[in-house]
Amino acid sequence: MLLSAEKHNAAQTDLAFQRCINPLCGATYDAMAIHTACQQCGELLDIAYDWDRAALPSSLAFFEQMWARRNDPVRFSGVWRFHELLPFAPQDKLVTVGEGQTLLQQTDAVGRYVGLNAGQLHLQYEGMNPSGSFKDNGMCAATTHAGLVGAQRAACASTGNTSASLALYCSATQRMKAVIFIGSGKIAYGKLSQALDYGALTIQIHGDFDDAMVRVKEVSKEMGIYLVNSVNPFRLEGQKTVMYRVLEALRWEVPDWIVVPGGNLGNSSAFGKAFMELKEHGLIDRVPRLAVINAAGAATLYELFENRGVRWNEGRIDSDPIDQYNQKMDQDGIRADTIASAIEINRPVNLKKCLRALDVMDGVVRKVSDQEILDAKAQVGAGGFGCEPASAASVAGAKRLREEGVIAPSDRVVCVLTGHELKDPNATVAYHAGDQEMFDKVLGSRGVTEAKFGNGSVAVENDLDKIIEAIRKHG
Ligand SMILES: *Cc1c(COP(=O)(O)O)cnc(C)c1O
Ligand SMILES: [Zn+2]
Repeated sequence: MLLSAEKHNAAQTDLAFQRCINPLCGATYDAMAIHTACQQCGELLDIAYDWDRAALPSSLAFFEQMWARRNDPVRFSGVWRFHELLPFAPQDKLVTVGEGQTLLQQTDAVGRYVGLNAGQLHLQYEGMNPSGSFKDNGMCAATTHAGLVGAQRAACASTGNTSASLALYCSATQRMKAVIFIGSGKIAYGKLSQALDYGALTIQIHGDFDDAMVRVKEVSKEMGIYLVNSVNPFRLEGQKTVMYRVLEALRWEVPDWIVVPGGNLGNSSAFGKAFMELKEHGLIDRVPRLAVINAAGAATLYELFENRGVRWNEGRIDSDPIDQYNQKMDQDGIRADTIASAIEINRPVNLKKCLRALDVMDGVVRKVSDQEILDAKAQVGAGGFGCEPASAASVAGAKRLREEGVIAPSDRVVCVLTGHELKDPNATVAYHAGDQEMFDKVLGSRGVTEAKFGNGSVAVENDLDKIIEAIRKHG
């Protein structure tokens, strides 16, 4: 079905509004309002739409025609190609830098490691985005909204990739100044270098991500700076499209599992909303299952969901176990600690939305050790993809769930590789190099004891015969 140009332009701001996720509250706000929480009850906000007036396609195959329109930057975008499914801004106001040119790749080499039958493991490599992580899917949406409301400055707290993405969008559009909050010594150099190079104002505070998050919220409120952390509901609208592209690559067939690392839980929340809406619209007939994978050193979601029985419960979430766990972390001085810095977060801001996603997608949560993460990462690399440590948690988690029999060998599984291999070369080199001192320094304190798939370089004298001998011996 082709929509008329006129109907397309109906993808307007007046279709969208903001709504509290707490069904007992349900307060709504104008799409142009700037809130990061419900003014009535303090819960998170969703973007909702008047779908009856929206130009919804009758089937997902509608979006295939967008490939023929890729000379239009908006339809070239892997996010705005699906504008009809996130119609909160008019077409001529959409911000894009060519994000979302990411592909679902099938890999039997990594599939064997996970324990899946041939043809069943797919990797959605979001590291191929302009700033090297999936964050660009959300940042184009957040900066679009920031532009609509006339923001001059945009801020975030970040373990690295959100800041790299924000910095890129601000410099590319030249319309806003990026202000970035990072914890001291907690950011991978690949990511920090991006923020600096793209010209963002970078505020390094003494503390970790959770501390930086508290401060950025205060400062944004105080100074009227537009906040783009994933408490920003517009950002999550953009992140829904990762799942649309997965479906597109599978010719609109729904896979059995989506496996994703969990940090602030924005991605998992967005994926849940994407499938919830597609099901409501009758655009898919079933919803895949979701597996959210925590690092063992930052496993709040795992603890709450799998050990303390916290559930969405139609929005009536029992907050006692959550409060108790937060208090316990305070009392015991527990800090998030994992080599997977992008998910080194103990107080995930999107916890409640993620609980809803787990409900909608019949989800499970697992935690994996840094050892499992790095071994999985080496397998992803050897399989020809590569990713940063946090991303490999998805593959390590899929393997774990296969071993437990929760995932069957015949299941069709999609692991999201959230960030690019080059984001954190230190971890990669420390794992592979075979340099014990470096290994101990970077990985030792994290309980990583061996580089099971280490591929160190071979030192050889500068001598032709010795070089040939070395190649014969090792190759
Ligand atoms: C931000 C990030 C995550 C965590 O995603 P959430 O949506 O916060 O759960 C995981 N991996 C990478 C590479 C990231 O940049
Ligand atoms: Zn509310």
